[in-house]
Amino acid sequence: MRWIVLFLGLAVSLGFAEKIPEGLKEVTPDQVPGIILEMRYSTDLNITGKAIYPDGRAWLRRETIQKLSKVARDLREKGYRLVLWDAWRPASAQKALWAAKPDGRFLTPPSKVSRHTRGTSVDLSLADKSGKILEMPSDHDEFNAKADEDFSDVPKEVAKRAKVLRNAMFAAGFSGVPDEWWHYDLRDWAAYEPIEGKGLKD
Ligand SMILES: [Zn+2]
Repeated sequence: MRWIVLFLGLAVSLGFAEKIPEGLKEVTPDQVPGIILEMRYSTDLNITGKAIYPDGRAWLRRETIQKLSKVARDLREKGYRLVLWDAWRPASAQKALWAAKPDGRFLTPPSKVSRHTRGTSVDLSLADKSGKILEMPSDHDEFNAKADEDFSDVPKEVAKRAKVLRNAMFAAGFSGVPDEWWHYDLRDWAAYEPIEGKGLKD
């Protein structure tokens, strides 16, 4: 029995691995020290209210992981750990998000390519060094004024934390966007092709 379970487990994981498009690497604490994976689209804690990823694993381009690893080491010295809310996003997931919230201010319509689909973007939050999730300006995909870069509407210590994250990300070669404090891109994201990942979960 145990062997059957083991075999099935292996078959399932191999089956999934085969569907991971070329050019992506898995994000793990080995690669990005201390990172906590809290992939929101693999849970019902997202704007669609249901899981739209097959599991909680995260994938990015090698270059994105290398830079993120630099950020993680920098933050560790300051007593923080990265919390990953989203990474590479297959085109099918982008469609599901757009269907739930068809608002171009916050999401990329399926007719355009989301930066997340390139494997160059991350949605991040912070935990303390013991792994306790810290209060940040807003929750993930909370589409209101608290989500923007102007942190005047949140407690001072929360604003300070968001700036610690931002400074570490900018120093490692990422850029941000004005409406989402949690979202960062490789500065040269436009140089990378989208990785659609059709068939991962359609
Ligand atoms: Zn994002």
